[in-house]
Amino acid sequence: MSSFDEISAFAKARLDDLEAKNLRRQLRPTDRRASGESWCDGARLISFCDNDYLGLSHDKDVIAAGAAAARTYGAGAGASRLVTGDCPLNTQLEEKIAAMKSMPAARLFGAGYLANIGTIPVLARAGDLILLDELSHSCLHAGAQLSGADIVRFRHNDVDHARQILLEQRPEGGILILTETVFSMDGDLAPLGALDELAREFGAWLMTDDAHGFGVVKIDNPAPVQMGTLSKAVGCYGGYVCGPKPLIDLLASRARSFVYTTGLPPGVLGSALQALEIIDKNDTLGERARANAKRFAELIGAPPPPASIVPLVIGDEQNALALSNQLEQEGFLVTAIRPPTVPEGTARLRFTFSADHRESDIDRLASVVQTTVNENQNSVAARA
Ligand SMILES: *Cc1c(COP(=O)(O)O)cnc(C)c1O
Repeated sequence: MSSFDEISAFAKARLDDLEAKNLRRQLRPTDRRASGESWCDGARLISFCDNDYLGLSHDKDVIAAGAAAARTYGAGAGASRLVTGDCPLNTQLEEKIAAMKSMPAARLFGAGYLANIGTIPVLARAGDLILLDELSHSCLHAGAQLSGADIVRFRHNDVDHARQILLEQRPEGGILILTETVFSMDGDLAPLGALDELAREFGAWLMTDDAHGFGVVKIDNPAPVQMGTLSKAVGCYGGYVCGPKPLIDLLASRARSFVYTTGLPPGVLGSALQALEIIDKNDTLGERARANAKRFAELIGAPPPPASIVPLVIGDEQNALALSNQLEQEGFLVTAIRPPTVPEGTARLRFTFSADHRESDIDRLASVVQTTVNENQNSVAARA
């Protein structure tokens, strides 16, 4: 067998294994024509699974600002920012982000994923300890692994467990605590005040991932290092880290995912600047997204969500996929979320809400969800 055939057979076997476990993922062209409106396989669906919480990806001013920036500065950055890719919009955007987050300085990255995997290894290294919430996003885990530090996961939002780990481990090196502000798959908030106290008690550093908070919910965040993304409520693309000015300077010299990659395309920078202007001037956008999520949660009898994410944990992957398919029959796009994105046995539908969703659509979604879940429970009961 040639190595080409070997690789092909190797990948095929892995795919078959994933398929058997209902864990194979499929790409599906989705034509998003407006916030919340998507076309899939020729059908018009109302999406309740985007992270475009404020509908800014389709805002006409955001699009126009991106087009204008591309016309002026080009379609691509041409090089990394340290070579010739430092389009002036980068600095403007960094200043705007820092001001909006009330932080001294910000550094842009190509994406939120790149921000985390670049920054964590600058803050921690072999001999240090990284303590992270077990439900933290994959890129926080990946950044922790790249750092070479020892890694211990604490139970979700369990500050006592984190303290117990620190008392048992008595680390000699530095300690970095990582968590999210709004958890991406559960929609709940981290106990940032208590984590900050814990960090002070042990001389640890706290870093937060605000991917699902920024623009949606104002959070009193004491963390000295705050990461976020421009790809969710901001409706564009890119990531950032805010922190002390010397750290932000250091990232430009030492964060590998900053140094060795091309600057963001000028069009994206122009769009993001405009989107931030809009967010800065309209408190009501985030409020509307949260109110929509609350409305849905109330209708299906779920606890009130602090941000705009409402999870419905199903458990089994196959059932989650079936429910997602049933919703699609009714005109709703809600992708099933399966392990390893969420822990084993907690496959779910993750409903997200945008400022643009219509109340009538939310109400119909809630009624379809309730009917479908009840039918499924009855059929499970009948089989048992
Ligand atoms: C989406 C997400 C990221 C990655 O951000 P991108 O800009 O999409 O790369 C990081 N952290 C969390 C919690 C996220 O949900």
